[in-house]
Amino acid sequence: GSDSLVSLEIVSIEISEISFQEKIKNFIIGRDPSQPEFLQAVLEMTGSLETLFESNPAYFEIFKILCEPERVITFRVPWLDDKNNLQINRGWRVQFNQCLGPYKGGLRFHKSVNLSILKFLGFEQTFKNALTGLPLGGGKGGSDFDPKGKSDREVQKFCQSFMTEMSKYIGANIDVPAGDIGVGEREIGYLFGQFKRMRGSHEGTVTGKGIGYGGTHGRSSSTGFGLIYILQNCFKSLNESIVGKKINISGSGNVALFAAQKAIRQGAIVQTLSDSNGFIFWEDGMTESQLDEIILLKTKTRGRLSEILLDSVAYHENYKPWKIACDVALPCATQNELDVNDAKQLVENGCRFIFEGANMPSTAEAIDHFKSSKCVFLPGKAGNAGGVAGSGFEMTQNSQRFYWTEAEFDEKLKTTMTQIWKTVSETSAELGHPGDYLLGANCAGFKIVADAMLANGF
Ligand code: GLU
Repeated sequence: GSDSLVSLEIVSIEISEISFQEKIKNFIIGRDPSQPEFLQAVLEMTGSLETLFESNPAYFEIFKILCEPERVITFRVPWLDDKNNLQINRGWRVQFNQCLGPYKGGLRFHKSVNLSILKFLGFEQTFKNALTGLPLGGGKGGSDFDPKGKSDREVQKFCQSFMTEMSKYIGANIDVPAGDIGVGEREIGYLFGQFKRMRGSHEGTVTGKGIGYGGTHGRSSSTGFGLIYILQNCFKSLNESIVGKKINISGSGNVALFAAQKAIRQGAIVQTLSDSNGFIFWEDGMTESQLDEIILLKTKTRGRLSEILLDSVAYHENYKPWKIACDVALPCATQNELDVNDAKQLVENGCRFIFEGANMPSTAEAIDHFKSSKCVFLPGKAGNAGGVAGSGFEMTQNSQRFYWTEAEFDEKLKTTMTQIWKTVSETSAELGHPGDYLLGANCAGFKIVADAMLANGF
């Protein structure tokens, strides 16, 4: 009777009040119940896009399309190790979105790699690449191959087997892979060699190449340098300066090391670097010559941070650098490395700027804490976009059959980071949330991709 009518009414109110977040969550979980990293990346984006969805319902439909990669290629990677044992890994290429240009994004070789991680990375890449203003679509790939402890010969064999299969699906106008965790210049060299062997064509089809065979000056440092350039743009808008700022950096890969180098050169005090076992703390700031030694150790001998002979500094085993007081935190290691407890510690100790160098290094709860504490938070898709912008510059030079000077590259990188800062800060202000750079980056990146998709008839 009337009771059931009342409850029906309540049910319908509840249904109509299901938030965009809930709708998207149900949509994703309905098809992919166990892809937590992908779900996290999508929900973070959804949270920022709500005003856009309300103002234009077509955007919500486009977003649902964007939650599904255009194509996922999964393949077997067999290779013989040094003892002649057969090893079998799994390889993937997630061709996420090709609307703005060829699929573009790195390859990650790490034992943790799975489809959830590659989908989250490909999703992020799509909007990051849009923010650079370059004609690049989004993609990501990789393997559960663990490069740790592998000989040079084993890495070569693995890369050749990986590319033997992947070469069928990529090309300068189709899909252009690059490096990510576990894939640096050595791996890119082996991959590119095999690409040429398989296809009999040069095509410039990976980026991050060595300078002697089509690579560009500045690509290896462009992610880290770009992160510091955009941080400086932010300081400039606040009439502040990087000089004398205490900066904690996590990670000791390509992003972390070159962010440290640029920060030191600009007059900041870089206090930490880390690896998965702990962190090094330089109380008075690391010097450039100390950093050079570490760069050499990491790139030439592939050693670990804890192996460095530490006279004046301490290696804090089993701790993250976030317990040390600082002005600026630059998480440059990996996804979800910075949780809500780390965020609380940072804020309590006076940290006001969190600029992400890695992809999705902060958990959702950590981001909420930074926001409610009025910190300046910049997500990885803006903070680390200098990397893929540098790859875009490499593609341009390959097409031109020409090399730019290091100075030309650096100038263009600076201009790109300034333009990203402008786009992100203006978008956040236009949408009524000045200073919310997470919202600014997510909405600006999304609008570029979504408008192109609408113009192309989905
Ligand atoms: N892996 C890098 C990123 O996360 C670079 C991708 C590229 O250069 O294509 O953006």
